[in-house]
Amino acid sequence: MLADGVRWFDDWFAIEEVAPGVVAIGEPRFHQINWNYLILGTKRALLFDTGPGVRDISKIVRELTTLPVTALPSHMHFDHTGGLAKFHNIAIADLPVLKDCEKDGWLHASDDLYRGFREGMTWTPVRVNEWLPIGSTLDLGGRVLELLHTPGHSPDSISLLDRASSILFAADFLYPGPLYAQIPGADLKAYLQTADSLLPVLPESVTLLCAHGQADEAGEHRAPRLNRQDVADLSASLTNLRGSNDRPESWPVNARMSLLLWEPAFASWQSP
Ligand SMILES: [Zn+2]
Repeated sequence: MLADGVRWFDDWFAIEEVAPGVVAIGEPRFHQINWNYLILGTKRALLFDTGPGVRDISKIVRELTTLPVTALPSHMHFDHTGGLAKFHNIAIADLPVLKDCEKDGWLHASDDLYRGFREGMTWTPVRVNEWLPIGSTLDLGGRVLELLHTPGHSPDSISLLDRASSILFAADFLYPGPLYAQIPGADLKAYLQTADSLLPVLPESVTLLCAHGQADEAGEHRAPRLNRQDVADLSASLTNLRGSNDRPESWPVNARMSLLLWEPAFASWQSP
């Protein structure tokens, strides 16, 4: 079930060291096939996404590093925040849509941002230790991450750019397979703007590490990767869609990706 270079940590979590100091923690037995990323510096570590919480991801993180760990979700969807309450140090992107969910220091994600009711999951309120401004940098010691706002899939989506390693932790903005733009909060105008704003800042050689994977032809899993051309293809495909005046339920991006759509995702294109 796992590709070469990927190993089981237990019967649920799979581990792949995708680059020096970057450990992908996969959940290939979960139907959404989530991949979370433990990013290590010399002084601290960051866990980008905490999975659906079906199993406790904090245990594996403690086995993988002795550094202080900050958990940072890429967005509030249940499959990225399920393990968040297991961490003592929680950082959240300083976006108005998320600040609106804070009361007395506790974060209560709204149903539309969390969407766990679809799977019978309920949000566990968490204390926020750090609000990270968009455009700010996180220095983990020997590794600097830039926090980028990447809406489209959801209004609160963020990605992390590690320029020195030429990695974009893209989360749900882009991943191989059907991209979810058929859900509340998805917005095609934002999707296209994000793609167009990323292209000038992404190095030619960038690897996008994504939050949802697929089995390959052999039925094997590894951390999902895309490249700069995939971002360019998304931009071109959305530009074609906008010009077509079609409102399809799905739209091809390239051989590796498509968009799943619904009418509300088009709304921002219709307004002046
Ligand atoms: Zn997701």
